[in-house]
Amino acid sequence: MPVFHPIDVDEAVELLARRGPRRILAGGTDEMVRINHGAAVGEGEEIVCLNNITELRSWAFESDRGVLVIGAAVPWTELASGAIATLCPSLAEAARTVGSPQIRNAGTLGGNVATASPAGDGLCAAVALDAVAVIRSAAGSRRVPVAELVTGPKQTGLGPEELITSFEIPLTEGYQGYAKVGVRNAMVISIAGACLVVDEQHGISRLALGSVGPTILRCPEAEPLITDVILNRSGNTARLDEIVDSVRSAARPIDDHRATADYRRHAVGVLARRLVTRAISAREENNT
Ligand SMILES: Cc1cc2nc3c(=O)[nH]c(=O)nc-3n(C[C@H](O)[C@H](O)[C@H](O)COP(=O)(O)OP(=O)(O)OC[C@H]3O[C@@H](n4cnc5c(N)ncnc54)[C@H](O)[C@@H]3O)c2cc1C
Repeated sequence: MPVFHPIDVDEAVELLARRGPRRILAGGTDEMVRINHGAAVGEGEEIVCLNNITELRSWAFESDRGVLVIGAAVPWTELASGAIATLCPSLAEAARTVGSPQIRNAGTLGGNVATASPAGDGLCAAVALDAVAVIRSAAGSRRVPVAELVTGPKQTGLGPEELITSFEIPLTEGYQGYAKVGVRNAMVISIAGACLVVDEQHGISRLALGSVGPTILRCPEAEPLITDVILNRSGNTARLDEIVDSVRSAARPIDDHRATADYRRHAVGVLARRLVTRAISAREENNT
């Protein structure tokens, strides 16, 4: 198959706009698995590889806008530690749970979001963080919240000529964390995942759930309860139980080869309780 290695975004979107089928390749940790499992490359199909586009592999904190801009092809290893992890701990925690060191060296947030798996660890964090995908094509650019870009299991609103160039993440003050449950501790696709982001400045929380629905789910009923418990120190067992019940009601899991729906619903409640408890402890530590 012909593989092109554009060196900048303009060249990449020109290649994607050419007549005939095109396929984007970033780390290849999803796409090459699909190809190896028979997702044949079509007649005349060309691969557009993102590896040589420096702009997609870098990140910056734009202090004037309070926004972290992460290139779509920044690998998990880079998201998992260093300054970026300090700025965005929940994404770093999600990054650390992805696959193995080899997968984290190659795989990217852009590939995770574009794959749109309900089990995508980075996708779950991106939804909780209110991340916006910056999308380019030869026709121009647009910005779409990640929560809206992903429309169903393995489905997105991305056109065939479109490339995600970066993610814009508004930075918040307050606890954030990611947790997941799988059949073992490493190299595991989640059975349930949850990401909590508390925005103290605006007095809101966002809780995103992975692997318990057709796509990443938010918890509109539990979120105000979570905010209240964390910011007003009104946490007691009954209130935590109320949050857990509300999170379990928001989940829409199915039985599959990894777990039953019942177990997923149970597990996601456990994760929510764990994250809220961590948020309460983190706040108490900061205030002492
Ligand atoms: C052994 C193994 C373990 C794994 N473990 C986990 C795990 O624990 N958690 C998890 O979430 N995932 C896991 N994965 C899945 C995979 O590693 C991640 O989803 C990864 O983030 C995909 O990124 P990539 O750069 O490799 O994507 P690629 O495979 O290169 O691309 C994936 C899809 O996204 C499209 N795409 C890529 N970049 C862009 C872009 N910038 N714009 C538009 N479309 C784009 C491609 O065309 C393709 O359709 C695992 C995979 C393997 C093989």
